[in-house]
Amino acid sequence: STSADDLYQLGQRHVTNGLGRLTEGIMVKGQGSYVEYEGGRKLLDFTSGIGVTSLGHCHPKVSQAAAEQCLTLVHAQCSIAFHKPYLQLVERLLPVVPHPSLDSFFFWNSGSEAVEAAIKLARVATGRQHIICMQGGYHGRTYGAMAVTKSKTIYSEGVFPIMPGVFSIPYPYWHQHGLPPATPTSTLVSQSLYQLELLLTQQTAPRDTAAIIIEPLLGEGGYVPAPPEFLKGLRDVCDKHGILLIIDEVQSGFARTGKYFMIEYSGVRPDILVIAKGLANGFPLSGVVSRKELTDKLKPGTMGGTYAGNAVSCAAAVAVADVFQEENILGNVQARSVELFDALNALRKDSAVSPYILDVRGTGLMVAVEFTSPNGPGAQFDPVSDSNSPKSLASRIVKKCIENGLLILTTSAYEVIRFIPALNITQEDLKKGADIFAESVRSVVK
Ligand code: PMP
Repeated sequence: STSADDLYQLGQRHVTNGLGRLTEGIMVKGQGSYVEYEGGRKLLDFTSGIGVTSLGHCHPKVSQAAAEQCLTLVHAQCSIAFHKPYLQLVERLLPVVPHPSLDSFFFWNSGSEAVEAAIKLARVATGRQHIICMQGGYHGRTYGAMAVTKSKTIYSEGVFPIMPGVFSIPYPYWHQHGLPPATPTSTLVSQSLYQLELLLTQQTAPRDTAAIIIEPLLGEGGYVPAPPEFLKGLRDVCDKHGILLIIDEVQSGFARTGKYFMIEYSGVRPDILVIAKGLANGFPLSGVVSRKELTDKLKPGTMGGTYAGNAVSCAAAVAVADVFQEENILGNVQARSVELFDALNALRKDSAVSPYILDVRGTGLMVAVEFTSPNGPGAQFDPVSDSNSPKSLASRIVKKCIENGLLILTTSAYEVIRFIPALNITQEDLKKGADIFAESVRSVVK
């Protein structure tokens, strides 16, 4: 058979240039918090496949459940018949969704597709067209999801026209307001809510506005938790005007933040919840959760998709939900989170490093360190040239971490490195990763 080197060359030549890639080589194995490359190189994985393998790679109970489903029924097309894992998954999710009013489910394959479905549902249920999203937000690469993505132009550059009827306000993150990093949260919240009021009086009338979509913890755009007062403010505006609130928990959901859903910290009720990633620990599965009263307005046949709610993916997700209960995953996230924050805050206090660190933030095991502009501490951050700058501190640190045995990612905007290890990571592996990170940061800034 073809050698690994030849396969790699084949990939270089025949796989689309449209795909970015963080590491070289071929990944051949994943076990718990580690991944292995062809040739035997092993890395501690703090990416979890971008927040997906939350129970670690190849969790035995999840893989077993998927394997059994593979031998029973792989594909029961959702428009042909219900299948058992689909219904068992609904049964598992009903008690954990962030509000008891969320009682109607639709499963799809990817986060982007679920965002598309959420937008469609909001438009049909309200009879209105416009969608308000956040500057800095990320919701996916398909045409509708891309239209509400405002974290970087690269996703939409050169491919307009995209979905119309989209308006945006700044996420309460200082970059989005052009304010200094030390700006008080209350200022950012009031500025963002003021922009929303302006938008609803100057650009999109409430009676034309179907929904506001937001990540309760900004993901690709920089790992910024939304202040609870902001989410409450959005809820109030939605209630006042009959606008639906779409909460995108694709990255922050399923215990990632130490609660099942990030939105629980604010107590805010979503009208539509979007889920994916950690839901099935690596099997493609996403979902839109809403109220029956809203989804009853959809005509049968308007939602669907050949692979939507695949039986193997659903069986894996049922196993994930069970492991969450059996292995006290929420407890582990909370304990490891404290240790991770302690380690990162200690690093930040190091006098050689502190001038380069702007912030250590996040919730649970969705944590980030933001570094200064590549042009040095205090320099204005240029979102266009800095992200691609060879001087980018975050990119150089990531490279160094990988050399030192830790697989880790930046976010897709700003000088931010994110920590998204498996939610069941051991104390020992968490410490090992934090130590490699600290050592790598020190060697890059020195
Ligand atoms: N929403 C959020 C918040 C995400 O982080 C992502 C993926 N990073 C998506 C939507 C899109 O999901 P997918 O890549 O599965 O289409």
